[in-house]
Amino acid sequence: MTPEEKMQFLYAIRRRGITDTRVLNAMEKVDRKDFLTGIFKEKAYEDIPLPIACGQTISQPSVVAQMTQSLEVTSRCKVLEIGTGSGYQATILSHLARRVYTVERHQDLIIKAQKIFDELKLTNITAMRSDGSRGLTAQAPFDRILLTAAAEDPPSPLLDQLKLDGIMVLPVGQSDSVQTMIKIEKTEQGLKYHEMGEVRFVPLIEGVADSYKREL
Ligand code: SAH
Repeated sequence: MTPEEKMQFLYAIRRRGITDTRVLNAMEKVDRKDFLTGIFKEKAYEDIPLPIACGQTISQPSVVAQMTQSLEVTSRCKVLEIGTGSGYQATILSHLARRVYTVERHQDLIIKAQKIFDELKLTNITAMRSDGSRGLTAQAPFDRILLTAAAEDPPSPLLDQLKLDGIMVLPVGQSDSVQTMIKIEKTEQGLKYHEMGEVRFVPLIEGVADSYKREL
């Protein structure tokens, strides 16, 4: 990353109101280029979503930063991410949390992401193919849950798997239109919802994927 690229990258993130220094440090430390292939590597530091394998996308860096900041992750947290994709968001989380579980419906994406986690020697991430709309019962409950695919409503298995005083962040709304990013806090008085603005994510699809073939 050239100094100019770094300045632009961090500027786009700060412009979205990211002030948490732990989040900014993690964003600075993780090289987005590692999670892209081919011609998209050249655009790694631009504040735009980009294509990855299996017809999916790596999210926009400023949105990754915003979701991470809203999740209020501490070094004691056990975090569940739904939608591993490239593994970029999971890597950011791994620098802030005690343990990260990340699930993805495409096996091919899990294999690619795992290879990067191994190369970067990230030992506190567990990645697996599974239907994230059901959560991850074997490892529940979680301090924090992050969805990086849009649901029509917050999936109830995920709300059940969130600890008391836990936080969940997710895009909700009709799958292919604009969605709203929301933050849910589980308190003794019940669930508290905060809206955080409009976003556009790929849809959360129930079930795991068969092997992916590009549609021509
Ligand atoms: N967090 C990713 C961006 C992921 S895009 C990154 O940092 O690169 C959203 C991902 O959610 C896609 O890869 C998609 O395959 C996955 N997804 C959609 N529905 C899912 C489900 N039910 N369970 C697990 N993953 C799902």
